[in-house]
Amino acid sequence: MSIQQNLLHIKSKLPEHVTLVAVSKTKPVSDLMEAYNAGQRIFGENKIQEMVDKYEDMPKDIEWHMIGHVQRNKVKHMAEFVSLIHGVDNFKLLKEINKQAKKHNRIINCLLQIKIASEDSKFGMSPNEASEIIQSKALSELQHIKVVGLMGMATFTNNTNLVEKEFTLLKTTFDNLKELQTVNCKLQTISMGMSGDYQLAIDCGSNMIRVGSSIFGERNYNN
Ligand SMILES: *Cc1c(COP(=O)(O)O)cnc(C)c1O
Repeated sequence: MSIQQNLLHIKSKLPEHVTLVAVSKTKPVSDLMEAYNAGQRIFGENKIQEMVDKYEDMPKDIEWHMIGHVQRNKVKHMAEFVSLIHGVDNFKLLKEINKQAKKHNRIINCLLQIKIASEDSKFGMSPNEASEIIQSKALSELQHIKVVGLMGMATFTNNTNLVEKEFTLLKTTFDNLKELQTVNCKLQTISMGMSGDYQLAIDCGSNMIRVGSSIFGERNYNN
C-alpha cells in the first residue's frame, strides 16, 4: 500500500480522542510530503538535526514533535519551532528547554518520559521522580515550559501481557499525577503506542500514538 493508503487506513480506525504522530525518522522529505498531502500535519522525529532540516524544507503549518532522547546541548536548535518534546526524563533538561524557549519568547510543551519497560535500554524517570518534579517549586519557576502529559515505551517483545502491564502502569501514573495541577503543569496527553502495539495502547488509555513503519514502511538504517 502507498503511504497515503496506510495513513488513511490507520486514521479511519482511530477513535476521535487519539492523536496520530507520523514518525518519519530516516525517511526522505518526499515521503513526508506524501503524508502531508494526505492531510497529516503532525510529524515525529528522533534526531534534532534531521528534524531541523525537514522543518526548513517543508510547509510551515506542520507540528514537529521530538520523540527521541534529547541531549541538552542540542535543544537550542529546535527551540524556535518544536511543538512537543516527548522524551523529557530529567529536570536539568526542562531547565534548558525553558532557557531556550525564553530566547524565542515561546512556551514549549513537554511530556515527562516514564520508564515503564523492564528493559535497561529505555530511558525515563520513575513515577515518584515525576511526581516530585511536578510538585517542586523549581518547576513552577520555569515560565517557558508547560508539562502537558506523560510518555512511555513498552518493552520490545511479543509478550502482550507484559506490554499491557506496562501501558497500564503509565495510565495509572497519569491518573494519579493528573490531580497535581500547577501553574505550568496540566497533564492531558498520554503518548504511548507504536506500529506494533498502538491498538493495545489505546485500549489501555493512550490518547497519542507514535506510528512510523506502518505508515512509511520499514526503515533502512544502512543508507
Ligand atoms: C521510531 C519510534 C516510534 C515509531 O516506531 P514504529 O515501530 O516504526 O511505529 C515511536 N516512538 C519512538 C520513541 C520511536 O523512536
